[in-house]
Order: sequence, then C-alpha cells, then structure tokens
Amino acid sequence: MIEVQQRFKLKIIINSAGCWVWIAGKIDAGYGMFWLNGKQVRAHRASWAIFVGAIPDGINVLHKCDNKACVNPKHLFLGTQKENIADCIKKGRWNPFKPFGNKNSAKKRSPEICAAISARQKGKPWSKARRAAQLIKHKGECHEPSIE
Ligand SMILES: [Zn+2]
Repeated sequence: MIEVQQRFKLKIIINSAGCWVWIAGKIDAGYGMFWLNGKQVRAHRASWAIFVGAIPDGINVLHKCDNKACVNPKHLFLGTQKENIADCIKKGRWNPFKPFGNKNSAKKRSPEICAAISARQKGKPWSKARRAAQLIKHKGECHEPSIE
C-alpha cells in the first residue's frame, strides 16, 4: 500500500487551502481518475480507499472543501447519495435536470437551482426543494434566493 500511496502523491499538488489538487488525468466532470487494483476509479474515491479504508457499498465519497479536483483524505467524508444532493443544494451547485457533474453546473446558477436554494433556505427538505425547482423550471422564472 505504501507504493500505491507514493504513486498517488506524484499526481497531486497541495494548494494554500491544503487541498491535494489532482494534476493527472481527469474526466470532463472535473474528477481525477486513478488506476487502483486494475480498475480506473475516481481519484477521490481512490484516495479514501488508499489512505483511510474501504468504502461501503452504495456510499459516496464527498468533499468538505467543495473542490472536485481535491483528493486530500482529510477533506473527504462518506455520505449517501441523498446527503450528496443535499450538500450540493447547500453549496448552490445542484441541477436536477442535468447529469450530476455537468460542466455548467458549477458556474451558472440556473432558475431551478435558485428555486432549490430558496426552498432549502426556508427550511424545506430536499424533496420539496426539488419539487420547487421543477415548478420553476416549468414556469421559466428565476428568483434570487430569499429568506422570508
Ligand atoms: Zn480540499
């Protein structure tokens, strides 16, 4: 495992935030890719497996630092897909109508995301936030998130 750790660390640079920024191969969603035990896996998942331990089935490796290229195991945590979406909404980069990791989703705030954030800020669960997002999509309006 030491060798794998060394091989892994050759592919990163550490930035001022302490993120291990992946500089080797990436897929277009911005995640690094790493060969581990003969399989190509997302680098942040590989990082968890190499430096922390096995990832249970159906569990995602999520970022505390919101940097998809970051593979610092200290910036990662385990969570379910539901938590992943909730986390995304909280960070304002969730779009229920496009595949997760869409190129535009990190930068542009679509009406759906506005609605979802707004609903979340009013304390609604993510399922209601998603519904709000769908309604807004249907009406084609965008409201900046507001707290009432
Ligand atoms: Zn980080």
